[in-house]
Amino acid sequence: MGEDCLFCRIASKEIPSNVVYEDEQVLAFLDLNPQAPTHVLVIPKRHVANLLDAAPTQQDLLGYLMLKCAEVARQLGIGEGGFRVVANCGPDGGQTVGHLHFHVLGGRALTWPPG
Ligand code: 5GP
Ligand code: ZN
Repeated sequence: MGEDCLFCRIASKEIPSNVVYEDEQVLAFLDLNPQAPTHVLVIPKRHVANLLDAAPTQQDLLGYLMLKCAEVARQLGIGEGGFRVVANCGPDGGQTVGHLHFHVLGGRALTWPPG
C-alpha cells in the first residue's frame, strides 16, 4: 500500500500536512476541512484500511492509537472541556479515506446523535 492511498502519502510526507504529533508508529495532523475548532486525525503510519481490516495482532497498535488520541486532545487543550473520538467505517459509516483514522474533535459542545 502506498502510492494510491492519500493517508499513506501524508504519513510518508509526500503530501504535506499540519502535524501535531508524530512518532515511529503514529501521525496526528489537522483535518483539512475541520468540523470543530479542534479537529485532528490520528493514523497508524502503516496502512490499515479501517477497523474491519484490523487484525488481532494489531490489538496493541489500536490501543496505542487510542492513547495517542487522548494525548493529542490534552496537548491541544480540549482534554478538560471534553472531546469526541470517531472512526468512520465503510460506506454507511461515512468513511471517505480508506486508511484507518481516528477523528479527534473538540473545542465546542458536540451534538448527539451524529447525522
Ligand atoms: P472520513 O470521512 O474518511 O472519516 O474522514 C476523512 C477526513 O480526511 C475528512 O475529515 C477530510 O476532511 C480529511 N481529509 C481529506 N483529504 C485530506 C487531506 O489531503 N489532508 C488532510 N489534512 N485531511 C484530509
Ligand atoms: Zn494507506
